[in-house]
Amino acid sequence: AQTAVSPTDEAETLAKAAERHLIQPWPSAGEIGDEARGLIGSGDGIYVTDAEGNRLIDGPAGMWCVNVGHRRRELADALHEQAMALSYNSPWYTMNEPSALLAERIAGHAPGDLNHVFFTTGGSSAVESALRFMQFYNNVRGRPQKKTILSRDGAYHGSTYLSASLNGSSRGRDWMDIADDLVVKLSCPDPFRRPLDMSIEEFSDMLVEEFADAVKRIGAENIGAFVGEPVMASGGVIVPPPNYLPRIAAICRENDILYISDEVVTAFGRMGDVFASKDVFGIEPDIITFAKGVTSGYFPLGGMVVSDRLFAELRQSNHADAMYAHGLTYSSHPIGCAVALKNLDILEGGLLEHAREVGVYFMEQLKTLEELDLVGEVRGTGLMACIECVADRESKNPLTLDTEVGRRIDQHCQELGLLLRPLIHMCVMSPPLIITKEQIDEMVAILREGISRTMEDLRKEGLWKGFA
Ligand code: PLP
Repeated sequence: AQTAVSPTDEAETLAKAAERHLIQPWPSAGEIGDEARGLIGSGDGIYVTDAEGNRLIDGPAGMWCVNVGHRRRELADALHEQAMALSYNSPWYTMNEPSALLAERIAGHAPGDLNHVFFTTGGSSAVESALRFMQFYNNVRGRPQKKTILSRDGAYHGSTYLSASLNGSSRGRDWMDIADDLVVKLSCPDPFRRPLDMSIEEFSDMLVEEFADAVKRIGAENIGAFVGEPVMASGGVIVPPPNYLPRIAAICRENDILYISDEVVTAFGRMGDVFASKDVFGIEPDIITFAKGVTSGYFPLGGMVVSDRLFAELRQSNHADAMYAHGLTYSSHPIGCAVALKNLDILEGGLLEHAREVGVYFMEQLKTLEELDLVGEVRGTGLMACIECVADRESKNPLTLDTEVGRRIDQHCQELGLLLRPLIHMCVMSPPLIITKEQIDEMVAILREGISRTMEDLRKEGLWKGFA
């Protein structure tokens, strides 16, 4: 006789298997190799279903990536059909149709003369490829000392050695070795955390001055690149002051410093355009890196788009035999590229316009949560937003129980049907772009209730007095 296996029994068995054998990303030493995380069983549209069968709004769209939503038949079919036609070919000696077509279409969307695409396996490998390209470019040009990379506090660029060396959070660096000698960190362009007596314009001037001073101090001849997310995502959806990015881009151009715009999160519709650098922020970088939304997470794929100008310089150098000795087994993966082509069809077929329209409504509605005492700021742009909690609005101090508040809000919201991404004292959201205004209303109502319940808990536990 067969005994029925309940979904929760199955979830427990899986949790045990994970605890015994699965290493999760970013584990702490005390739990490494001995940890299970909440099980997600299935997804459909903007929803996912957990082990108990609860349907939750996928607030972060996975990890900022499920842009066209879960369970899209067109993407599943594209994946299947490409696997049956050609599942793999070596990019070392051969090429495939989907990667050539996708490179052409991506170049068509990229700003200025960014016309050449190198495909990778995700965002870290995209940033790593761009940085290694910068090193190669300066070696070939006879400037081997021009390698310092400028990054910023609060940045996140990946988990490979060089990309991780750019990351700005101390949590990500404290116990890890990084290429400190290659990277210089500048201030986080966070208007909410600017000095209390400074206007946004003065803050922007200060950041630009800091950048210019760093160039003078280090020497332009020693700086290879600036790497920046147009909107810092994992740092807490930091939207920089207006005009700051174009001013930084101008300094880079004047000083022969490559501007690498890390659009791993902001591209493919998250901000209403295929790329945000030019269309949203008015900058023409030398290289753009992308990943995540390029396949809406249906297949691991990333890449970089590089300017004609840089390639022309390389071709005209005296080192025709110099090798950009960089490639991945899965560069130009036919299945990833086929999925990305179909994903782009969906974005171009009306979803970009939809994202632009609901993005405005999303921010307007989320902003109403600033009425709640615990909420210091709701910020964001497009379909990415962050709720930052503070213990005190005057000093803007984060809560004293810092590491807990985002998680507390997330737990309440999960009970109410919404999955968030807690980040210390913040909650981050970036729902699938297909979200409707009604679903945004549902999301905001859950957030309001989840934050209110968290405030009650904090008061009851004597951890926070509120302002009443
Ligand atoms: N760059 C940015 C801006 C990111 O947000 C991320 C990941 O969140 C990465 C790079 C790294 O991408 P991946 O995790 O695909 O390697």
